Amino acid sequence: MHSFLDAESPFSVPIGPPLGTPLLFRSDHIGDMAHTQPVIKVLTHPTGAHELGQAQVQLRCLRAEWGKHFSAWRHEWPFPVVGRVNYTPLPLTQAQRYTTGKLAGVDAATDLTPHLRAGVGADNVVALQRSSSAAPTAPPATYVLFAQLVVVKSEAVVVAEVQRRSAVTLHALVAEHGAAGSRPPTVLDVCAAGVRRFLAGGGVAIDRLALNLRCPLSLQRIRVPVKGVACPHVQCFDLRMYLAYARKTGRYECPVCNGRRHALPAALRVCPYFAEALRRFPDEDEVEVHSDASIHRVVAPAA
Ligand SMILES: [Zn+2]
Repeated sequence: MHSFLDAESPFSVPIGPPLGTPLLFRSDHIGDMAHTQPVIKVLTHPTGAHELGQAQVQLRCLRAEWGKHFSAWRHEWPFPVVGRVNYTPLPLTQAQRYTTGKLAGVDAATDLTPHLRAGVGADNVVALQRSSSAAPTAPPATYVLFAQLVVVKSEAVVVAEVQRRSAVTLHALVAEHGAAGSRPPTVLDVCAAGVRRFLAGGGVAIDRLALNLRCPLSLQRIRVPVKGVACPHVQCFDLRMYLAYARKTGRYECPVCNGRRHALPAALRVCPYFAEALRRFPDEDEVEVHSDASIHRVVAPAA
């Protein structure tokens, strides 16, 4: 049962086993006369503010992938399907689909909380029905449907987690480099050394590197500069903009690596070197890094 405690996304924390018995069903049986439609009973639970964010009763639906460990099963709604709670429509958090039925985004769990009857312990009937508006296009599959109490983490909590991990990483880096030298290096010294290695590495030495102080996602000035812990580049993006984008789209790809590298919130680190560039050049949109890791205002070439 423990696998039900796997979070759907880095922004959610299941806080207990499913509320009631999970239901296994096949998508091609929905709406056919020989089978009953997928129905589960859900009792109204206390929800609301939690130390990590907001507690909700979520309706989750995992697509079975036989041969893979249960924890690898991902949230997906059968298609085409509509939800109902107590016989009234429940808008499911469904991603757009291509005409082939293939997902164009990421399906997500649906918050049942506002649809449940008032009063803790009240009975609710949650059902999935075939939508008559579209012909089935997704291949038949087996799904597991269940309701669960889940905390959706607030932005402040996720930001604080990233900042805490960043402090731990930097502390370890400074300790590692401090052991070799006589004068203990500052965080900025260690980061600048990393930048110099980046500029000298890769076989081709770079003597000028442009840094964009605007976030590649929002094009607004970066406030908290982060990148993935495995990202090789100096360029950062804005922590809050990235988290908002990832929460909305379910995509966790570094916007600087052009999606080639994953950047889950747990892998994000604040960059003190980039923060220094932002601090020193409050009015610039772009600055230039020289091979010694010094940061300069961009000088327009003489005409
Ligand atoms: Zn990257």
